[in-house]
Amino acid sequence: MLIPEATIQKIKDEAEITQIIGEFVKLEKSGANYIGLCPFHDDKNPSLSVSPSKKIFKCFSCGASGNVFSFVQNHRQIPFIEAVKYVGEKCGIPVETGGTYEYSQKYEKYYKILQTTTNFYEFYLKNTSEGQEAQEYLHKRNLNDKIIKRFRIGLAPNGDLLYQSLLKDQFQPLDMIEAGVVRSSSSQYYDVFRNRIIFPLDNLEGHIVGFSGRIFQNAKTGEPKYLNSSENVVFQKGSICYNYYDSQNEIRQKDHVYLFEG
Ligand code: ZN
Repeated sequence: MLIPEATIQKIKDEAEITQIIGEFVKLEKSGANYIGLCPFHDDKNPSLSVSPSKKIFKCFSCGASGNVFSFVQNHRQIPFIEAVKYVGEKCGIPVETGGTYEYSQKYEKYYKILQTTTNFYEFYLKNTSEGQEAQEYLHKRNLNDKIIKRFRIGLAPNGDLLYQSLLKDQFQPLDMIEAGVVRSSSSQYYDVFRNRIIFPLDNLEGHIVGFSGRIFQNAKTGEPKYLNSSENVVFQKGSICYNYYDSQNEIRQKDHVYLFEG
């Protein structure tokens, strides 16, 4: 769901940032601003400063900063859109989700499969000896643990372990195929991604809709370096942009964006 830019702006204008942040942090007036203990680091002396006129916050110790939405988003660990809705409710501006809600519901089962699959790949990367090897590869490519966690990078095992695991979670094989993580051939089911490092891909609403899988060991002949999910009901390659969902608030604040093709 995309919230109209004008609505986001209106909510930002109307919202009393000190009141919203004040629900999470005890704020005290200090000159034109308010100060309090920063919730984003282990703060002993109040280093969080909130400016009601500029409608921003900044921590002078850890550098956390942003507007009312980023505060709520980071503090409550919720997606940007949820943060906008939350602040909207607080200042009496409802955020319309009508039509898109139905749309989301229709695809709910696929989103659930893709989410569960992402958890599975993450777990496999962190907790197996194959995962250890993949992690070493990622570290060599300068992707540290923080980045791995942040982008939910995982590992797809060989064989059909994902299929078996989804089956145990009561998902239907046909839905797994529709979601693009399992394929079938002569009534046998196989995992689409095998022995690849997995990058989940979000759509503009923040739902994981597909994956990009990269080989990290020596390629067998004819094996593509990257394998992407095939297009399906939820994954349309041309309508997503990697990391767009999580970066939109930052883009809005900085008012510029760098796009990389790689
Ligand atoms: Zn801080």
